[in-house]
Amino acid sequence: MKIIAVNAGSSSLKFQLLNMPEEHEITSGLVERIGYDNAVFTIKIDGKKVKKETPVPNHKVAVELVIEGLLEHKVIASLDEIKGVGHRVVQGGELFKDSVVITDQVVKDIESLNDLAPLHNPANITGIEAFRELLPNVIQVAVFDTTFHQTMREDAYLYAAPYDWYKKYGVRKYGFHGTSHQFVSERAQELLGNKDAKIIVAHLGNGASLCAVDGGKSVDTSMGLTPLEGIPMGTRSGNIDPAVLMLVSEKENKTYEEVLNDLNKSSGYLGVSGISNDSRDIVENMLQGHYRATLAHRIQIKRIADYIGSYYVYMGGLDAICFTAGIGENAPEVRKDVINAIKVLGITLDEEENQKRGERMISTADSKVKAFIIPTNEEVMIAREVLRLNK
Ligand code: ADP
Repeated sequence: MKIIAVNAGSSSLKFQLLNMPEEHEITSGLVERIGYDNAVFTIKIDGKKVKKETPVPNHKVAVELVIEGLLEHKVIASLDEIKGVGHRVVQGGELFKDSVVITDQVVKDIESLNDLAPLHNPANITGIEAFRELLPNVIQVAVFDTTFHQTMREDAYLYAAPYDWYKKYGVRKYGFHGTSHQFVSERAQELLGNKDAKIIVAHLGNGASLCAVDGGKSVDTSMGLTPLEGIPMGTRSGNIDPAVLMLVSEKENKTYEEVLNDLNKSSGYLGVSGISNDSRDIVENMLQGHYRATLAHRIQIKRIADYIGSYYVYMGGLDAICFTAGIGENAPEVRKDVINAIKVLGITLDEEENQKRGERMISTADSKVKAFIIPTNEEVMIAREVLRLNK
């Protein structure tokens, strides 16, 4: 059965068509620059990317383009073959503790959370509406980045701020990357042969977060009310004293919004190194002795290790740490330095395995705590949820 997994952003729409339950990718692609005359539609056909530049005024036209592309390239013979659509939705707040079949009411409920994710949820909704309009008889499911973390206890998700802020405005930690943390931790449980395992997932991509998973449940995660909290990322600062906002806004005559933008877009690897937000550039320059690239790397490693230490204590032990996403799957230098930074926990790196790619154990056989590379697959996770709710 064919299912589409969709990730709609404000000016882009990514999709993957999967055969389920085989979890086999049939094709994938994206529409970029939605809202512009020179939008680009890309679709993978026989392993090759086919591109087309065309005006795409809105998400509905983007979805039409995707569907026409699937028909034109004979990926599907008719629309009837598509049996379900799964939509990634960033913020589910406390309303959504599970994925859900989309109805008019569900769309309204997602809209009611727009204040918590003003950059993401409205864009996700435009994708949902476009697909509902074009495929009205097909089951559509919303899969939230936050639901996996809804199992956190209050002591993990509440900020030590006025309690009223939580009650009135929903100010608390929600966490993100939930589909990835769930996918990777479930795989780690299988590899360990232990459903009760204590696992830390390090999802290190452009956006990056850590998650502590105890017996299959998220008990803590590093992102917060927004994806800005936690470890530093490509361009995000991660944790920082909020008083910085006031100081920098006064010194640089900027609004809080502008300073917040700097913390989101000009910080992290990019801000510290002054070179790049891309881990490949950071590592390359570090190996050539570039001071600030090295500093960006060292800060990153320390902050990741800080979280791992705290999760180890919070869970009362650790069976495995799993590296995933762009950096986690592809940057041996980052994995190596993280593992060396936490070796006190009883973890030893297998240097040779660490140089390889793909799913594998990268700790030595006698290592008390195991380390794995586990490639993430958020699309498969979304398609699984569509399948589960299509009963
Ligand atoms: P996102 O999905 O959050 O945009 P990704 O998971 O694609 O991000 O991760 C992007 C990051 O992965 C970039 O910092 C990039 O440098 C890093 N990355 C991708 N491939 C490699 C590689 N071969 N070696 C080192 N880093 C890599």
